[in-house]
Amino acid sequence: MEKKQFKSESKRLMDLMVNSIYTNKEIFLRELISNASDAIDKLYYKTLTDKDRSFDKDDYYIRILPNKDNRTLVIEDTGIGMTALELEENLGTIAKSGSSDFKSEQEMEEDFDIIGQFGVGFYSAFMVADKVEVETKSVDEDKAHLWVSEGTDGYEIGSSDRKSHGLKITLHIKENTEDNHFDEYLEPHKIQQLVEHYSNYISYPIKMVVEKS
Ligand code: ADP
Ligand code: MG
Repeated sequence: MEKKQFKSESKRLMDLMVNSIYTNKEIFLRELISNASDAIDKLYYKTLTDKDRSFDKDDYYIRILPNKDNRTLVIEDTGIGMTALELEENLGTIAKSGSSDFKSEQEMEEDFDIIGQFGVGFYSAFMVADKVEVETKSVDEDKAHLWVSEGTDGYEIGSSDRKSHGLKITLHIKENTEDNHFDEYLEPHKIQQLVEHYSNYISYPIKMVVEKS
């Protein structure tokens, strides 16, 4: 694994996220689910223009796995995934993205706060996690990759043995503080509530897998 620094704008945004007194931390889930949905959209559009690919609706979904014992929350999609270069470009730099254009009107109405309107994206994960791991395989590459970061300090990229295309993000959820009850992001009922509240416009199935303990 090789240690790398974030580009400066990314670092500033991440500082904001990690040390944020911003109260609406729960929007991280909306951001990650919307990324998963975008990634499936991209793969879907690719199948439309590529004769060699077919589209089977059942192959496209988003999975959420909260695990209290490990203090992890996993969000996984079967989308287009990222190559090593794309990982570097997309998660090492703040995306100058126009993805807010795709937001529904209802979603915009709910977002009267500045961060929400900006579309905080991937880095919002650091509002609730002190370590984030991304495993991904692009449809355009045989190799899979692992991206790991503990916040502003930078990130590492290595290889992964993931076999299927798509992306799996593992959030290592922060310990509770006096002001923040981070534990709730490991509770299936809380996750379900957040999905219903923020992500009901998503057109792919969102499945929650709960481990029996
Ligand atoms: P935005 O979604 O506004 O572009 P984000 O910070 O949310 O910005 O994500 C940055 C970029 O990382 C995305 O544009 C996309 O290229 C890539 N990305 C994030 N999540 C995924 C995912 N689940 N699958 C594939 N690519 C992703
Ligand atoms: Mg996004």
